Amino acid sequence: ASAPSHSRHIKPTLLVSRIYQPSNLRDVGQESRVAGEMTCKSQRLMQQAGLIHPSNPGCYYYLPATVRSMEKLVRVIDQEMQEIGGQKLDMPSLCSADLWKTSERWDLMGKELFRLKDRHGADYCLGPTHEEAVTTLVAHQATLSYRQLPLLLYQVTRKFRDEPKPKFGLLRGREFYMKDMYSFDVSKEAAYQTYEAVCQAYAKLFARLGLRCVQVQADTGNIGGTLSHEFQLPADIGEDRLLVCGTCSFSANVEMLSSDTTDCPQCKAGTLVESKGIEVGHTFYLGKKYSHIFKASFSNSQNKPTIAEMGCYGLGVTRILAAAIEVMSTEEGIRWPGLIAPYQVCVLPPKKGSKVHEAAVLADELILNLEESLPRLRGEVVLDDRTQMTVGKRLKDASRLGYPYVIIVGQGALEETPSFEVICQQTGETVFLSKDGLLDLL
Ligand code: ATP
Ligand code: MG
Ligand code: MG
Ligand code: MG
Repeated sequence: ASAPSHSRHIKPTLLVSRIYQPSNLRDVGQESRVAGEMTCKSQRLMQQAGLIHPSNPGCYYYLPATVRSMEKLVRVIDQEMQEIGGQKLDMPSLCSADLWKTSERWDLMGKELFRLKDRHGADYCLGPTHEEAVTTLVAHQATLSYRQLPLLLYQVTRKFRDEPKPKFGLLRGREFYMKDMYSFDVSKEAAYQTYEAVCQAYAKLFARLGLRCVQVQADTGNIGGTLSHEFQLPADIGEDRLLVCGTCSFSANVEMLSSDTTDCPQCKAGTLVESKGIEVGHTFYLGKKYSHIFKASFSNSQNKPTIAEMGCYGLGVTRILAAAIEVMSTEEGIRWPGLIAPYQVCVLPPKKGSKVHEAAVLADELILNLEESLPRLRGEVVLDDRTQMTVGKRLKDASRLGYPYVIIVGQGALEETPSFEVICQQTGETVFLSKDGLLDLL
């Protein structure tokens, strides 16, 4: 067999962060403001596996495997948003205070807004969300006609929020990735239809990721509007409290209920069960709140300018990544939704100088073979060629990072009918397979 090309020799993630012990930390009284303090499982696992590295409170380096995973997640999000007509754009993060003063959110946002001045003394903020920006953009479209609506514009960008307590790794950052979409419709009825379509797309997205989210009625906060839902992933460390009726379809964030009732406000009979959740998505019907202020209008069928009906829809991209790890992983190792695992397969050749070291060349051949036979595995197979380390040690790293499949190339590979040890990390099963068996499995 020809030697594998350099690009196939993908090195596993070698950037492994030092593990932060509480004793390493200065006592500053406000522990959540210490970069890298371990506050939850996903953060610990992600730092140990070399996926993230703490920079300053609420800010992280996203290391190469994380970027791969994020890119996959964004691709799935793109598919779902574009399937309902979403068009992707990219708006500035550096936002002029003028817009925020016009909407009166410059004051309303308080300390959460990162504010700065340019060299001329003009006020700016780092975008925590983009209702003002997108509505102004649409207001500047001179020829928008009712025929072009609904208009769904979305982006995947960094958002900046000076959270009072950044913690839980990527779950609550001060700089994080969000997918935010904004819709413009001809009427309230049409806006409600768009709202429903986005909620369905979100439900589909979470189902594809294997995340069992619940959609609950939610408060509209300082975004404004009248109808709102959150997509919550049930988890012990969730900071939201959810109430779900045991009898009817009612489910809500506790923030929604004025008094401490147990009776269900919808069916008046069922008991409300409380659980904790991580807010991974949020949808809002905005009505004309922003379109009225910024004069985002379209020409209706009588050619009259008409103010558009709006909605906005957020997904926490980096939060979804960490939340998935939080709920799927074991204490020892990361488990991923298969769709967004950074790599699908890790191949472990034998240790240098071991009895079976000649099997090393078979590992190279196996990778070539896998990538040629199964095109979707191209670039998805890692060769852990740190052969100065024992297989056991590398296996531990592989289990920590959570490659869905780990293949050990050892004694079996040298036999007349070669076989390989395959560990399926999702199920924890180990099987011995021939090359054909392996292709079937993958
Ligand atoms: P939270 O209640 O957790 O503070 P939020 O209600 O302030 O979130 P939204 O304004 O609804 O957040 O933003 C849309 C989405 O962005 C959220 O549903 C969440 O998934 C994500 N998100 C919000 N704040 C953060 C953060 N600090 N770090 C990571 N993701 C976040
Ligand atoms: Mg918030
Ligand atoms: Mg919230
Ligand atoms: Mg929210």
